[in-house]
Parts: sequence; C-alpha cells; structure tokens
Amino acid sequence: MPDHTEQSAALFDRASAVTPGGVNSPVRAFRAVGGVPRFMASGDRCHITDVDGNRYLDLVCSWGPMLLGHAHPEVTAAVQAAVSRGTSYGTPTATEVLLGEEIVARTPVDKVRLVSSGTEATMSALRLARGFTGRAKIVKFAGCYHGHVDALLAQAGSGVITLGIPGTPGVTAATTADTIVLPYNDQAAVTAAFAEHGDQIAAVITEASPGNMGVVPPRDDFNAFLARTCRDNGALFISDEVMTGFRITRSGWYGVDGVRPDLMTFGKVMGGGFPAAAFGGRADVMAHLAPEGSVYQAGTLSGNPVATAAGLTTLRLATDEVYARLDETSATIQRLVGTALDKEGVPHVIQAAGNLFSVFFVESSEGPAEIRDFAGANAQVLPRFAAFFHAMLEAGVYLPPSAFEAWFVSAAIDDDALAELESALALAARAAAAIQH
Ligand SMILES: *Cc1c(COP(=O)(O)O)cnc(C)c1O
Repeated sequence: MPDHTEQSAALFDRASAVTPGGVNSPVRAFRAVGGVPRFMASGDRCHITDVDGNRYLDLVCSWGPMLLGHAHPEVTAAVQAAVSRGTSYGTPTATEVLLGEEIVARTPVDKVRLVSSGTEATMSALRLARGFTGRAKIVKFAGCYHGHVDALLAQAGSGVITLGIPGTPGVTAATTADTIVLPYNDQAAVTAAFAEHGDQIAAVITEASPGNMGVVPPRDDFNAFLARTCRDNGALFISDEVMTGFRITRSGWYGVDGVRPDLMTFGKVMGGGFPAAAFGGRADVMAHLAPEGSVYQAGTLSGNPVATAAGLTTLRLATDEVYARLDETSATIQRLVGTALDKEGVPHVIQAAGNLFSVFFVESSEGPAEIRDFAGANAQVLPRFAAFFHAMLEAGVYLPPSAFEAWFVSAAIDDDALAELESALALAARAAAAIQH
C-alpha cells in the first residue's frame, strides 16, 4: 500500500503549533519510532481510517476501550439516544445506577464511585486509602503506570518509559517522599519495605497484571502475597484494573487469579470509548468517602449520562462468548507473530495475560525466557521494534507506537483481518531482521 501521509503531516504541523508535541496524550506521538503520527478520521469494526484514506487493522483499540470494535451499532444507538435526551444535568441519573450495579455484579467491589478518567480513579483511591488508614506512605512498582497522578509518576510505565523521561519534573520531592518504588514481582523487596515502614504504609498499589511496560504478568501468586502482606500490616491492597478490567474476563484480571483487593480502579472498557472510570471496594472503606464520610472526592461530569450509556451498553454486550472469542483471536495473533519472527530469526519473547499480550524484541534468543520486571522490559532492541512497527503500518496494521505497550484485540477481528495481519507480519519480521544489532 502506498503510504500517503500528506494530510496527517499537515495536521501534525498545525497541531504542533497549538499543542506541545502535536498530541494531546504523549503515547500518541511517534517519538519512539520516528515519523508522523496518523490522524484518524473514522473507525469501523476492527479497522480505522486516517485523514489520507489509509485503512489499518487496529491493534490499539484506543489503548483498550474498544473491546467490541469501532462504531458498534448498539453502542452507537445507545449513545445517540442518550445525547438526544440532553448531555449532562449535574444530578443523579438512572444509567449511572445501572452501570454501578453492573460493575458491582461483575467484580468483588461492594460499592463504586464513578469518575471520568483512570488517573482520577487511582488518585482518589490513594486519597481514600490514606484517609481510611491515617497513614501517608504508598508502595508502587517500577514500570507500573497508574495515570499521571503526581505521587505515582515515579519510575512509571507507558509514555514515561517510551519517551525515556527519567524523573518526573514538576513533581516535587515532597509529593513523592511518601512513595516507595519497588521492583515488580519481587517479594523480598516488599517484605523489606514493610519491615522498615510497615506502620506507615497506607496502601500497596499495583496493576492487577501489568501491561504498561509491555505485558509482565504476576509470578508466584504475587497478588495473593501482596494482599496478605497488606492485611498483616493494616495497609490496603489496591488493584489497578484500568487496563485489564472488563477486558481480560467479565471482571478483569480478578477473574483469572481471584485475589480480592480492598480497593480496585477501572477505566478504559467501562467507558465504551467515552471518558468514564471508577474506583470501588470494601463497603467499610468506601463509607469514608464524601458525602457518607469525610474523604472528599467530586466531579462535575462524573457518571455523565452519555458516557455511562456507552459503558453500560458495552458491558452488557461483553458476554462470555465475547471473551472466549477475544482469547481465541489473541492466541491466533500471538501464534502468527511468533511464527513470522521465528522464520526471520528475530529474537523475541511474547507474554500474555488473558487476551492482552505484547512482544519484547530482546537482544538474543539465548536471553531470558521471560520478562519479570521493568529492568527486563528495558533490555530491548528498540530500533528493531521501530523497523517492525513502520513495516506493519505501511502494510496496514496499526500497532502501539512503542515497544513498551500491550497490543489490544477487539471482538470485531475476523478471518479476513487475520489474513491481512499474516501478510503484514511477514514483511515486518523481515524489516526487523534487517536491523543489525
Ligand atoms: C490507562 C491507565 C491508567 C490511566 O487512565 P487514564 O484514563 O488514561 O487517566 C491508569 N492505570 C492503568 C493500569 C492504565 O492502563
């Protein structure tokens, strides 16, 4: 396919004049892979089309939300009906109750509070944990991303790694003084941190199964270990399921390992492509939230009627059959990627957490068989990923423009799309193999 990018390039110039880096979220930039970000004009099922008319098989899915694919007719109809009734009242509405009930039915949380972004959810969950315990310190893991909450930006994943931003300028030392950052999957480090600060730690927050340094699943019952350690020390265990929630199973990663957190955070899929997120958990903890309790949290557009209509319709359509299909599609894609890279002798490790997976372009096939943490994820041959990414893009497949991100599948991917993908992979594997290291 000829790679016409004139319209995207023109928009990128204009965008760069009015917004830093030309994008409204850093992960959309092509800084790590080079080139001009594609400006999308439309989406239909598993494809997206840019302003130059190039059509791509979409393996980003808006970074997770588009579980059912783009412009699903029932979601579109629900949104249109909601919009025609007015878009916001600043009062309670019925749809937010239905969405709250759906979340409570699918997950172990007793009560839930709706917010507008994953960042807001994790920020509020931390405040609540601190208010509930009366303690200040929090533990997070290197390579986990929990949104751009000041206290959680230390050694964060997602765009923070992609862009190689070392520290967190603008975040004061005082803000992160209470953040303890530990290596992921490292039980000894957690035990040591609790031995030193146990009576000051309000919460441990972790991605339920990390996907923001590439997919690095918990090993050796890490979540159960964290839950137990928190309980023994009077701290809360916060499981961030913004990425995994309602994507991996009906509930999320919870449906895989069954470890019950004190608080959970959700976003992405539950908004059905609109800004909606949530945090929830134990009734006694949630009771500390205003107006029932004194920990303040609020939002003008929280539980917005259009966003909740999109989210509710998406969740109702996300049945067990849909999750089975997502698992199958993901497994097929992982197999196709592995076969294509093996054929060209490109060293790689593919890791999955349910239907989420990512491909690590490791240095040699003698290297580690698995990636367990941030240090492992960082030891990749980035130019090889960049070559692979651009070959895929030119062949009509849109991947995350970063070697540190999960690939997202949708239930709209069909056999034709998989055939498209297979031929793109053959070209991209060859392009990656051509990069000398
Ligand atoms: C995306 C993400 C967030 C942040 O959500 P936003 O809606 O982008 O603020 C938080 N935690 C995890 C695990 C995420 O993947």
